[in-house]
Amino acid sequence: MKLTQHIYLVGGGRLGLGLSHESDCHIYLVDGGEALALIDTGSGLDTPWLLRNIAAEGFDPHRIARIFLTHPHIDHAGGAAYFQQTFGAEVVCSAEVALSLASGDEEPTGLAECKRLGWYPEAYRVPACPVAHPVSGGERFQVGELTLSVISAPGHCLGHMAYLLEEGGSRQLFSGDAVFAFGRVLLEYLPGADMWQYRQTMVALAKLEIRGIFPGHGGFSVEYGQDFVKAAAEKMVHAHVPGNLF
Ligand SMILES: [Zn+2]
Repeated sequence: MKLTQHIYLVGGGRLGLGLSHESDCHIYLVDGGEALALIDTGSGLDTPWLLRNIAAEGFDPHRIARIFLTHPHIDHAGGAAYFQQTFGAEVVCSAEVALSLASGDEEPTGLAECKRLGWYPEAYRVPACPVAHPVSGGERFQVGELTLSVISAPGHCLGHMAYLLEEGGSRQLFSGDAVFAFGRVLLEYLPGADMWQYRQTMVALAKLEIRGIFPGHGGFSVEYGQDFVKAAAEKMVHAHVPGNLF
């Protein structure tokens, strides 16, 4: 589904538009011309479905040069190993994500708790995905003719990153689970959540002067991103909790 000149929605499950496996977050494809990128990979539980969506938009997945992971939660990062191993895509993520993907430790990813809650099958294992050079924020990456910047955005969990795309004079924010349409946030009782870091993140995001916001779940907006992030930040700086996504 084409959202802007260079951004496509190619996946998203029960908490999205029902385009791919029910456990998948929104998965965005960035078309940089000679190279493609994905923002998050979904859970990896039905990657063939995702590949069919990518092909249906006219893209060859072999051109996916980079995978940008927002955070270690499995609905976002579980499919990373597949794209790394199958297409040789470089995985861009924080040290915290890299550690959990390399070790298979299910606590920081929230997977252990999610299994206890019955959200994922007990047999589900995250395939190992070694990442040589984790990012910490401030890095810039080329995807063909486009540039994506890394923004450290902890709070929802440790090691959460957002990604900013410069597109036709506008800034488009891939916000993961940090902030959503209508200024909602996602505070969960999972390992690594931190309300004070979340507040600092939101204040920083509100200074970016974005246009579109493309979060990990729920709605997205090609126009009113700045209003939504500002609304969440204003709540937090007054010590109030914005509306939660769930
Ligand atoms: Zn999450």
